[in-house]
Amino acid sequence: MRQTTVSKQIGVKGVGLHTGVPVALNLRPAPENTGYIFVRTDLDNFEIPASVEYISHCSYATTLIRRGVVLSTCEHLLSALRGSGVDNCFIELDSIEIPILDGSSEAWIELIAEAGIKKLDAERKTLKVLKRVNFEEGDRSMSVEPSDHFEIECVIDFPHPFINRQEYHFVLDNGSYGKQIASARTFGFAREIEMLRNANLALGGSLDNAIVLTNDGMMNEQPLRFEDEFVRHKILDIIGDIALLGMPVEGKIRAERSGHAIHAALMTKLLNTSGAWEIV
Ligand SMILES: [Zn+2]
Repeated sequence: MRQTTVSKQIGVKGVGLHTGVPVALNLRPAPENTGYIFVRTDLDNFEIPASVEYISHCSYATTLIRRGVVLSTCEHLLSALRGSGVDNCFIELDSIEIPILDGSSEAWIELIAEAGIKKLDAERKTLKVLKRVNFEEGDRSMSVEPSDHFEIECVIDFPHPFINRQEYHFVLDNGSYGKQIASARTFGFAREIEMLRNANLALGGSLDNAIVLTNDGMMNEQPLRFEDEFVRHKILDIIGDIALLGMPVEGKIRAERSGHAIHAALMTKLLNTSGAWEIV
């Protein structure tokens, strides 16, 4: 298996979910062993590698920070790159936040497919999990254990008639990401949105880029894309956050009621547990 990058530069414009700020973004081919690097073209091409070490905070979205420069809401694009099998890519943008597009990764995988994927000379490196590592916080938990694949077993539980308990088991193989995960959208609760807006968050949020749930239904007129779209989106987020390990993972993740902060805590614990992983 050889490493890959996008075949040519390709761009998209949109707005940030939380900042509401317009942003132009380009995916650009990168050499082998680059990983994913964000490039702030509005700040003299300052680079922020997509890496666990730069995770800043991660409540409503995963935000990276390096020497005071921030890059926000990176998880859906990183998820699409990993899900499409792209190992190396420069991600140039002229603002602080990745565009939200339709709230899923569908437009990202279409953009990557339009650019094309090119094989590089170097062999692909994989982070192989050798023993189980677990992180728990109250009723939220996440673990990773050895497996021959990259797979995720996810459970979410929200007291809402459209959700309640949803479970999904995803195995990443050729094309599975595009079929099962990519089009699942972000969701939020109407009662939370005013609170988020008061905190200057979700300023770019709308029914065009999120499922907005009321107490017993939803505000969107378009139907759900899957009955279990919510748990599928959670898996989308997990794949995007786990991409911050910098290479594909061979292991099985189990997540129950997890969120960005738990994903970050598990990755840090995994990396710091001796004998729990090796690079192959
Ligand atoms: Zn998300």
